[in-house]
Amino acid sequence: MSLWMPKKHFSISQKKQINTCPRLYYYQYVEGLGDITPHLIAGGAAHAALEYGYGQQLQTGTFAATVDVLDVFNEEWKKGIPEITNWTQFRGKQRTASDFTQISRAHLLAHIKEIAPNIVPKRLEGAINVEFQGIPLVGFVDMETADTIYDHKFRFSPGPPPLDVKTDLQLTLYALARGKSKVGFIMHYLEQKTNRKTGGRYFSPALSLRKATRTKDDFEYLEKEIVQTVENIDRWRTEGDFPRIPEKTCPAWCEFRSRCWANAAQTNEEIKKRLQSEDPVNVEKPDTSSSVITHKCPKKEEPKLFDELMPEFSEDSDRVLPF
Ligand code: SF4
Repeated sequence: MSLWMPKKHFSISQKKQINTCPRLYYYQYVEGLGDITPHLIAGGAAHAALEYGYGQQLQTGTFAATVDVLDVFNEEWKKGIPEITNWTQFRGKQRTASDFTQISRAHLLAHIKEIAPNIVPKRLEGAINVEFQGIPLVGFVDMETADTIYDHKFRFSPGPPPLDVKTDLQLTLYALARGKSKVGFIMHYLEQKTNRKTGGRYFSPALSLRKATRTKDDFEYLEKEIVQTVENIDRWRTEGDFPRIPEKTCPAWCEFRSRCWANAAQTNEEIKKRLQSEDPVNVEKPDTSSSVITHKCPKKEEPKLFDELMPEFSEDSDRVLPF
């Protein structure tokens, strides 16, 4: 049996987009549209900075110097800024590069102070490749200790962490690929506080480290979800459309709103034509009972480290953030 996918591999990020809205997935993964946001670039730079910090710890036994970690962030962030195509708004105010710099540095400083002293890394960033019933799935593990897989998450908005570690399929996939049962995420977000003297509101970096355990049932659930989702993609392609969610439930941040809802009949016709002309990537799905775990983990990657120290960067101790 053969199934169609727009990309050579499936991923949990793709699954999350489909869960939000299949049409959104179509625009992003079939048509290849979508903005590059500062969240993506700053989050990537912050990941790189932590990878450097823990990489030094793996090599020398000591987490890297704070100034060097911030340098790595700074360098990666500066490199990525020209790629950004959409600077987002917050409360009517456009966010700037300086806002993201301050927030990211505050997140990193909090991490270095509160999390890093309690972590002993055994392995860092590495690609994973898993196959479910012929469907190739890829992912990227942030960090492993002796018994736990960790995912770093950066949220550049105020509010409590929105993710539930118990149901996070990404962590289930990492646990399966690495043969571990304990998983955790380290969420970096912003907490709204009130100044006791002035009554003014401000935002401060906050951290949440949550852990959970994965079982065989979780792995089976993951496999069923992935196979079912790819079967849906295949069916939507045959039908010539990816379903839209009702307009009133569209998330405010969806950048395709006007394209999607304005002149809908014409858009649907365009989508049908596009899907019919798509060069399909077919995956061969073997005939097998979905109650049996059929995944394969073909290769293990070695951890990679930054090999260059970055120029000096002066540290700002102000933790009050720009909102
Ligand atoms: S506007 Fe709504 S229905 Fe259309 S892609 Fe965005 S979320 Fe989906």
